[in-house]
Amino acid sequence: MTELQGLRAIVTGGASGIGLATAQLLAERGASVAVLDLDPAGVAAPLTGLRADVCDDASVRSAVQQAAETLGGIDILVNNAGIGAAGTVEDNPDEQWHRVLDVNVLGIVRTTRAALPHLRASEHAAIVNTCSIAATAGLPQRALYSASKGAVLSLTLAMAADHVREGIRVNCVNPGTVDTPWVGRLLDAADDPAAERAALSARQPHGRLVSAEEVAAAVAYLASPLAGSTTGTSLAVDGGMAGL
Ligand code: NAD
Repeated sequence: MTELQGLRAIVTGGASGIGLATAQLLAERGASVAVLDLDPAGVAAPLTGLRADVCDDASVRSAVQQAAETLGGIDILVNNAGIGAAGTVEDNPDEQWHRVLDVNVLGIVRTTRAALPHLRASEHAAIVNTCSIAATAGLPQRALYSASKGAVLSLTLAMAADHVREGIRVNCVNPGTVDTPWVGRLLDAADDPAAERAALSARQPHGRLVSAEEVAAAVAYLASPLAGSTTGTSLAVDGGMAGL
């Protein structure tokens, strides 16, 4: 498929997991793609790897500008960089709340702010935020992470309303548990990784972890001109978890 031919895309957190699968799929479908990540060292051609910390406004502005110059503009912004946190409201100190909200929520705000002037100049502007099933599912032991993704969901709706008349669409994807290096690290830390993987898989109604490629396909659709009348929506990629 080449429905993204000629389009120019930025993917934050694109050096690993969902972001990397997304950057690769956007490129396969014809887009030129720049990855903004804390650690872009492993990012290979045809992707352009740029170092950026979404918590640092100057770093984001400079990387977005560099991406726009390298790609010749920006049509697609995928706000994907994110970090996790386990625990109830009793477990996470204030500093951890500030840290996770800084990456997961303000990271989107900073990158979007920097990209908007470029998106306004595009004929096919689209923003896709990586949200999570945690935004709406009421998962145990995920108070902080869920609150951060609830904010991403609300922010997506608000941004969609603010920018629709400028021709910029804003949507999000809500993955279930995805087989990425992040989840791999969680499994490695468990007493019995195989049993933990089986338990996580059983929690998805379709009986397995979601693949990063399945999330990437949803992002690619929402980013493409084929979704030209779709804005302010969230697409679940969760094996039916939200609906069952
Ligand atoms: P991952 O850890 O494999 O990749 C995350 C990437 O983000 C890494 O390359 C990391 O370097 C980068 N990153 C982290 N902090 C950054 C910062 N401050 N600035 C720039 N880059 C930064 O994780 P993943 O599982 O692919 O998750 C990606 C996104 O998907 C996150 O937003 C996460 O909340 C969301 N998500 C993941 C799952 C899951 O089960 N894996 C489920 C739902 C949603």
